[in-house]
Amino acid sequence: MKTIQLLNYERDRWIAGDGNFADIASAIDGSVIARTGSSGLDFGAMLSHARDVGGPALRAMTFHQRARMIKGLGLAIMERKAELYALNPLTGATRKDGWIDIEGGAMTLLSFSSKGRRELPDAHVLLDGDVEQLSKTGSFIGQHIYTPLHGAAVHINAFNFPVWGMLEKLAPTLLAGMPAIVKPASSTAYLCEAAFRVMVETGLLPPGAIQLIVGGVGDLFDHLGGQDVVSFTGSASTALKLKSHPVVQRESVKFVAEQDSLNASVLGPDAGPDTPEFDLFVKEVVNEMTVKAGQKCTAIRRAMAPAEFLDALEGAIRDRLAKTTVGDPREEASRMGALVSCAQRDDVRAQVKKLVASGARIVAGDPDASAGPDGGAFMQPILLRADDPWHSSAVHDVEAFGPVSTIMPYRDLADAVALANRGMGSLVLSLFSFSADAARDFIQGAAAFHGRMLVINRDNFKESTGHGSPLPVLVHGGPGRAGGSEEMGGIRGVKHYMQRTAIQSTPAMIAAISEQYIPGGPKNFITDAHPFRKRMSELAIGDTLKTASRIVTVADIEHFAEFTGDNFYAHMDEEAAKASPIFDGRVAHGYLILSFAAGLFVDPDPGPVLANTGLEDLRFLTPLYPGDAMRVELTVRSKSLKSEDTGVVRWAVEIFNQKDELVATYDLLTENLP
Ligand code: NAP
Repeated sequence: MKTIQLLNYERDRWIAGDGNFADIASAIDGSVIARTGSSGLDFGAMLSHARDVGGPALRAMTFHQRARMIKGLGLAIMERKAELYALNPLTGATRKDGWIDIEGGAMTLLSFSSKGRRELPDAHVLLDGDVEQLSKTGSFIGQHIYTPLHGAAVHINAFNFPVWGMLEKLAPTLLAGMPAIVKPASSTAYLCEAAFRVMVETGLLPPGAIQLIVGGVGDLFDHLGGQDVVSFTGSASTALKLKSHPVVQRESVKFVAEQDSLNASVLGPDAGPDTPEFDLFVKEVVNEMTVKAGQKCTAIRRAMAPAEFLDALEGAIRDRLAKTTVGDPREEASRMGALVSCAQRDDVRAQVKKLVASGARIVAGDPDASAGPDGGAFMQPILLRADDPWHSSAVHDVEAFGPVSTIMPYRDLADAVALANRGMGSLVLSLFSFSADAARDFIQGAAAFHGRMLVINRDNFKESTGHGSPLPVLVHGGPGRAGGSEEMGGIRGVKHYMQRTAIQSTPAMIAAISEQYIPGGPKNFITDAHPFRKRMSELAIGDTLKTASRIVTVADIEHFAEFTGDNFYAHMDEEAAKASPIFDGRVAHGYLILSFAAGLFVDPDPGPVLANTGLEDLRFLTPLYPGDAMRVELTVRSKSLKSEDTGVVRWAVEIFNQKDELVATYDLLTENLP
């Protein structure tokens, strides 16, 4: 195979470094497959280009425009995935491993796109929480908002998922409206570069939105500023070095760290060898040891079982590992491929030695045995057993980033929780149990130490996404040792690239600033056509329908009570209602008021409003007495696209009585034609 010269993407140009190239070896046979280098790049100019060109272009787009852009990137990766799968085995990964990286990465872009279109407004500002009333008449209010940071996001990624690792960071960054500079780990940079190229070639990204460094980052950190974000994935030692950089400290540069962690999985006290949970546990431990040859930040490094089940567990894992064929990842028969490099394999061997020195013993596999084609970074899966885990500190501290796991006994669930927490912070912890009591004690005892937790059993295993899979909609990250940060988690992950600001002004000003209707803000009373007769694109934020009013009578209340069976005293018993501390007499049912409101504002014909999909934040504020009048103001609060064919309009509904007092308020959600 011809050696690939990797190129940097600097200020919208593809350029090679100007020397000091490093060779990248194939994980399968050690042959040189690519050359990489970034010397000669002007790192300060790259940051300026991101801030001055990429940032303004992205910020000019709305959340929905950016969401559609990242959908296009995800679809392009899927369309050209064959090119990426062709490179995947060179990293040591099997086709199945590559699926997590390549298609998992594309799906992360699609997931963020969909979340962005459903949960973010088609605007430039994201509101955070409700309006805070700060004055008597409501002319001065507070509102928290998020806006994109004006700097560059520097993404430094680990070697194990060159595509997913890049995309799980790019998706929330671009959706937030921030440009990024991506620096992949050198050993698998050729696969990252290929995926990056696919995205650039879509033509969907504005200039300066993304740049790529294949090689070292030179003096980039010296040019960072307070609007930049560093998002790092890799080892704890590199994270410490980078976050201690004086410029990061001086400029308070936001630093998101995803680092190594000693994730654990616990076999529940109820899950003896004859239970389904025991078999599921064995399967999952072996799976986590062998997928990506164990080079997964979420892999199960510590497997804990009740002391009386440990022998059975050891035997079952050993039997299953014996069926794992290690070999050339291009061959279908290979269940486990190679580590990323021989250097990585040597590092794993050295870590296994430390585990053995601290009291664990190898019960399956030989770290030094040859396990695949010559010259490749192959290694047998290694199972260790630590019979005295409280006196073997290394098993809770030393990460062998390869196909290595240690089984250990616990006395009772409290002991298991304490052992799990001894990892001092992890990305994921799982429990295999059918006992609700065990699940409750486990989660309450351990959640503070772990970013994600699963309870797996016979009822959910078929649909479970598994111990080791971070998901775009759930947070990925963990406290302490795991880095003390979070990524993804749906829109939570987008906010890492934005600044929260408390805004104080009149409702009208805040509505204008946020491009969204705010209670008390200006309304545009429309008379040309009923808003239900308008497509979503024809509705403007603040457009308001003012309905006619109707009187609510005793006969209406009694009819409603009889029709629905709701004979609550407040509606039907004048004396009892008067005697209550709340009412002056019989009042209309809240549900009657809502029904009459719909009767006042609905336009009956089919489309463009297709359906009522929900009410939110309903409040009844002033009772409505027989003889009172009610009328409605229905205002377009925000709009969001659900798919190409439908969208959601959020309407602010305000119901007033004849004295213009607010009787009730709520948000109405309707599904509309776009
Ligand atoms: P690493 O050696 O710390 O490298 C991580 C990244 O940092 C690479 O891109 C590397 O680039 C870069 N880097 C190293 N020194 C740097 C410096 N002085 N300045 C700027 N960048 C620098 O980690 P790794 O060996 O690639 O990855 C394995 C580790 O990552 C494991 O410990 C694993 O647990 C952890 N990990 C964590 C997660 C998570 O989500 N928490 C995910 C995957 C992996 P070069 O390759 O060019 O040196």
